[in-house]
Amino acid sequence: IPALLWFRRDLRLADQAALLAAAEEGPVVPVYVLDDEGAKHRAMGGASRWWLHHSLASLDADLRERGSRLILRRGRADAELAAVAEACGASRVHCIRHYEPWWRNAERAVAKRLDLVCHDGNYLAPPGSLTTGSGTPFKIYTPFWRALKEHMPPPWPTNRPSTVPAPKTWPASDKLDDWDLLPTKPDWAKGFGKEWTPGEAGARRRVDAFVKRAGDYDETRNLPSIEGSSRLSPHLHFGEVSPAYVWHRVADAGGSVDIFLSELGWRDYAQNVIAEYPDYPSKNARDKFDKLPWRDLREAGSDFDAWTKGQTGYPIVDAGMRQLWTTGWMHNRVRMIAASFCIKHLLIDWRKGEQWYWDCLVDADYGSNGVNWQWVAGTGLDSNMFSRIMAPLSQSEKFAAGDYIRQWVPELAKLSDAVIHDPEEHGCRPKDYPAKIIGHREARERALKAGKHAK
Ligand code: FAD
Repeated sequence: IPALLWFRRDLRLADQAALLAAAEEGPVVPVYVLDDEGAKHRAMGGASRWWLHHSLASLDADLRERGSRLILRRGRADAELAAVAEACGASRVHCIRHYEPWWRNAERAVAKRLDLVCHDGNYLAPPGSLTTGSGTPFKIYTPFWRALKEHMPPPWPTNRPSTVPAPKTWPASDKLDDWDLLPTKPDWAKGFGKEWTPGEAGARRRVDAFVKRAGDYDETRNLPSIEGSSRLSPHLHFGEVSPAYVWHRVADAGGSVDIFLSELGWRDYAQNVIAEYPDYPSKNARDKFDKLPWRDLREAGSDFDAWTKGQTGYPIVDAGMRQLWTTGWMHNRVRMIAASFCIKHLLIDWRKGEQWYWDCLVDADYGSNGVNWQWVAGTGLDSNMFSRIMAPLSQSEKFAAGDYIRQWVPELAKLSDAVIHDPEEHGCRPKDYPAKIIGHREARERALKAGKHAK
């Protein structure tokens, strides 16, 4: 009797506990269900859908090389899995456990209809498994990381199997192209293909490239002009590579890789947070911030628009927002600066910015995005103070963002390092580049005043 293998954000064949378990029992029917209904307003954003399309195509090709294939269905996960199971006489489903609230709901619904077996493997340690000395979940990252490290290294990752046992007949499948996951007009994803190769092979190539320079990570990761970080986030988000594999490859590379490994720890931390607080990405963790007088978007709408389009007059913010639009990714340091600008300089509710990133990032992740936005906003369990207002112009200088700005804001390409961080201040703002939508000092004062309401 075949068993179903239910893929979600674990689109890989290596180190895939659900695949291993299913294949041990007999023939395997790999299924991906596009369930927008269950996720509701958290259905994947545009950039993620682009990624998903290519990742599914790659997974199907990898399965076909191993005598198998990927069955595609669209609709409620429980209903679709039940229909596929009936079509091939299966009753058991293997999957890797997920922690987004809609996936947990879907797991419960599937378990009512079929024999669902959930496995671990998308995180360094199963979310929820680590607790403080008094048995409560961690709220703060540093003690969480200390506890996680005690359980490391993770188990050695398993290899891709050379074959995947196939059933005698295959149930019907949708055609990927019919899902319209790719943009048509305008094709805003033109730049994505130059930057990314979704799928397991592309993920492994990124790991191979990164291990060669992992020893420099501490020094280069904060410099947006240099490719210092791994750029593995979308591959990790879609599960094209397991964190255990990344951990072992990077740890084996030698050198000082502790900071990199602790960043991987943030990914685990974020899942622990949403496992405990499912609505974290849309609710202030500290409710005193519910009183904060965010600007009404009827008044602030054009500022928000300028932020999304990279037209704020702050070169580092604009470079970041344009990199995001063009490639679906933004450098971590710049993500912080741009998010802080939206929240503090523009006094726009962090949830509005969170949603823009959600739609535009190829690595948009319910846990990581929510946790990081609340960290920047100062509203989170573990976060910056609201009164800490990042100064974008000095951040830009400090992290030597000149080349980065020249790359993403062509209007400023001719400016020297001495003036590029703040051309307006130096009297050399080109005519085709906008004036600052708000002055730094004025914005700072407005934000501090608003912050007092949350005292
Ligand atoms: P590296 O520096 O090479 O780090 C390796 C891996 O560790 C990353 O791929 C990622 O999986 C994980 N990681 C690193 N930093 C963090 C972090 N702060 N929080 C959680 N995981 C981390 N990351 C996402 O994966 N999805 C998001 O939706 C997301 N939204 C963010 C929103 C804001 C406002 C900010 C400030 C950060 C956000 N991040 C998010 C975290 C971080 O910016 C990205 O993970 C990182 O830039 C990805 O690039 P990289 O793969 O080169 O990272």
